[in-house]
Amino acid sequence: MEQEHSAREPSEPSRDYDVIIVGTGPAGLGAALHLTDSSPGRSILMIDRDRICSGGLLNDCKQNYTYPIGFAVDNWSRDEAERLLPVVEKHLQPAIKEKQNLEVYQRRAERLGVTLLDVRQAHVGTDRSRALIQRLQDELRSRGVGFLLEREVTDVFDDGNGAGVVIAGEETLRGGKVIVAPGRKGFSFLQQVMERMGIDYIDNVVDVGIRVETTLNNYPIVNDYYDPKFLFPEGVRTFCTNSGHARVVLEKYQGFNLVNGHALSEEQAGNNLVNFALLKTIGLKDPVRSGQQMAVFLGRLANEIGGGKPLMQRVGDFRMGKRSTAETFNEDLYSFPPSCPVTAGDLGLAVPAKIMRHIWVALKKLDTIVPGVLHPSTIMYYPEIKMYANKPAFLDRHFRVSRNVYMVGDGAGTSRGITGAWASGIRAAEGILLVS
Ligand SMILES: Cc1cc2nc3c(=O)[nH]c(=O)nc-3n(C[C@H](O)[C@H](O)[C@H](O)COP(=O)(O)OP(=O)(O)OC[C@H]3O[C@@H](n4cnc5c(N)ncnc54)[C@H](O)[C@@H]3O)c2cc1C
Repeated sequence: MEQEHSAREPSEPSRDYDVIIVGTGPAGLGAALHLTDSSPGRSILMIDRDRICSGGLLNDCKQNYTYPIGFAVDNWSRDEAERLLPVVEKHLQPAIKEKQNLEVYQRRAERLGVTLLDVRQAHVGTDRSRALIQRLQDELRSRGVGFLLEREVTDVFDDGNGAGVVIAGEETLRGGKVIVAPGRKGFSFLQQVMERMGIDYIDNVVDVGIRVETTLNNYPIVNDYYDPKFLFPEGVRTFCTNSGHARVVLEKYQGFNLVNGHALSEEQAGNNLVNFALLKTIGLKDPVRSGQQMAVFLGRLANEIGGGKPLMQRVGDFRMGKRSTAETFNEDLYSFPPSCPVTAGDLGLAVPAKIMRHIWVALKKLDTIVPGVLHPSTIMYYPEIKMYANKPAFLDRHFRVSRNVYMVGDGAGTSRGITGAWASGIRAAEGILLVS
C-alpha cells in the first residue's frame, strides 16, 4: 500500500486538509492542478482505491478537444467548455492529429442526413498512458499535494463547518472542502453518499449499443480521421474508434461483462484491425426511471444468453437472420479472427428490437459513407453499455451539492470523457477558490 501525505505538514492535527479529493481520474487531477495553479498554499490530499487512476486516462487515452464531445450538454454551454478546454490542453499537452479528406466524407454523410463532426483529437495509447499519468502525479507531488492510494473512501460528510471522508469504514479525515470524483465505477458509492446526505439525484439516461470490429481495408476512413464522430438521425452515434494495434476488450461490471475497445500508441506495430462503438442514447421516463437498472438488466440478459460472456455475431450471419456459431468464426469466408473471442450467437435475442433497428439503419448509412464496413466478416459485439451517473441536484454552477462538498466527473454526470471530466474538476476548483 502506498501512503504519502503532503510534503507541507498542516498546522492543525495531521489529518486536516484544505481540500480532499476522492478519485485521481481526470476530474480529480483537473481540480488539483487548477487549485495548485491558482492558489499554491493550500494543503490538498487525493485519495484513490486503486494504485493508478483507472478508466480512459489509463486505457487508450483519446482526448477530444471539441465541444460537445465528452461534455454533458445539460451542464455545459459551448462557451463554458471552450473557455476551459485550453486549460485542459495546457496540462495534457496533446499532439493533435491531422485529418484528411474530411469534406469528402462530410458531403457523403450530409446526403443521408448524417453529421460528421470535425473534432480536434489526440491519442496517447494504452502502452504510453502510464507515463502521462506519472508525469501528472509527479507534478502534483512537486506542488505538495499528498496521495493516499489503494485506500477506499466509504463515506463523505458535511457538518456545515467543513467536510470530510471516511476511509475503509474506520478512519476519518477532515477537509475544509471535499471534491468527490469517483468515475462511473463509483456509481454505487456515489448513490449511497447522496442518499445518506439527502442529496436529490436523477439517473434516467443510458447508452446501449454494439462494438463493431473489422479490418482496416473495410473502414479506411481511420487513415484520414483517427476517431470519426458520426451522428445519425436515428439517435445513434459512433464512439471510441480504435485502429493501429486495436483490440476489443472486456469490462467487468457488477458480475457481468461489457465490451469496450482500445488501441496501443502509433509506435507499436498495427494488427490491421479497427473497432468502434455504435451507441444509442436512451432517455427513460416514468415508470422506468433508472438507466443503471436498465443497463444491469440488459447486461445480465446478454451474458445469460452468452453463457457468462458477451455475444458476437458476423454481419453475414446477421443479414441472413441466423446465429453465428463457433464454426462461423473458422470458415475461410471470414477473413480475420475476433480480437476478443466471446460467445458466438445471435444479437437479435439480446438487443432490444428498437435499439437494434436503429443501429442497423445507422450501419447501412455508414456503409454508404465508408463502403466496406458491412462486409460479411465484420463482427458485432454486444453489449457495449455506458452508464452515466446518478446526476445530483447541483446547488450552483460549480457542481456543489452541499455547503462544502462538490461532485464532478463521469460518476456525477458532468462529463462523458477525459477532457470533459478534467474541465468539470476545474469548475469545482473555481467554486472553491471563490469561497475560500
Ligand atoms: C476502458 C475504457 C477506455 C476509455 N477510453 C477513453 C478514451 O480513450 N477517451 C476518453 O475521453 N474517455 C475514455 N473513457 C472514459 C473515461 O475514462 C472517463 O470519461 C473519465 O476517466 C472520467 O473521469 P473521472 O475522473 O470522472 O473518473 P475516473 O477516470 O473513472 O476516475 C475515478 C477514480 O476514482 C476512484 N474511486 C472510485 N470510487 C472510489 C472510492 N470509493 N474511494 C476511492 N477512490 C475511488 C477510481 O479508482 C478512479 O481512479 C474510457 C473508459 C474506459 C473504462
